[in-house]
Amino acid sequence: MIRSSWKTAVTAAVGALLVGAASAGCAGPGGGSPAGPAAAASPPPPVQRKPPTVAPGPAGRTPVFERRPAGGGPADHSAERVVALTFDADMTAGQGARAASGERFDNPGLIASLRRLKVPSTIFMTGRWAEEYPAQAKAIGTDPLFEIANHSYSHYAFSTPCYGLPAVQEAEMARDVEQAFAAFRKAGARNVVPYFRFPGGCYDESALRALAPANVTAVQWDVVSGDAFATDADAVAEQVLDGVRPGSLVVMHCTRSAAPATEAAVRRIVPELRKRGYRFVKVSELMEG
Ligand SMILES: [Zn+2]
Repeated sequence: MIRSSWKTAVTAAVGALLVGAASAGCAGPGGGSPAGPAAAASPPPPVQRKPPTVAPGPAGRTPVFERRPAGGGPADHSAERVVALTFDADMTAGQGARAASGERFDNPGLIASLRRLKVPSTIFMTGRWAEEYPAQAKAIGTDPLFEIANHSYSHYAFSTPCYGLPAVQEAEMARDVEQAFAAFRKAGARNVVPYFRFPGGCYDESALRALAPANVTAVQWDVVSGDAFATDADAVAEQVLDGVRPGSLVVMHCTRSAAPATEAAVRRIVPELRKRGYRFVKVSELMEG
């Protein structure tokens, strides 16, 4: 399923992320459970449909979604010009001291720009990020423009080697994901979807089997933005604009620490894609296609 050119790009991006993880920090935990009937607290959220998921594989093996497939689903929207911008809110379990000393793993300006530009988006948040920035996690997770997905609690590797990230033991994988969902719940986030992005995008068959109890759909991507540690917003924007096709899923970041040019890139990407006829959707809508 993974084309080689694509794999190369993914590898490059992951490499960048991991360099960051070692020096600055793309690592975080995540976990939680999808919004269910219990979310009907006050104030009542807008009517929420159950987020679509991909059917598990044999023995409950975690399914992997990469982009809206050509050929489409029941409604066959495959040729529709939709694109999902996704943002990884990265902070590792080991970066608390750095946050305490002033390093910013959040990016409120990016969230504000997404709101101003009215771009529905999916934020893949680590549990550690939600613990560090609970007010922001709640604000994102109660804004219907956004949905929060799981990027693990620890942002450790679910398969190795993964650019030097410490490994999560197989027996701990589902628990790590659940711990992130719990952090989202504790922060008060409600718009939480049962999607999971592997730290560094690293996974193997064992990880997919080990995560079966977490009941998540793994979400990869087909367009690498190259925003990790980038300082040239125009270059990031160009890479995204060159890569997007109908049904694409773009990976970017929501952390000033490791992706300082993302907001500026988004301000360029969004109007240009709209000019080309694209509509922005969350991963949950992309998955419906
Ligand atoms: Zn990450």
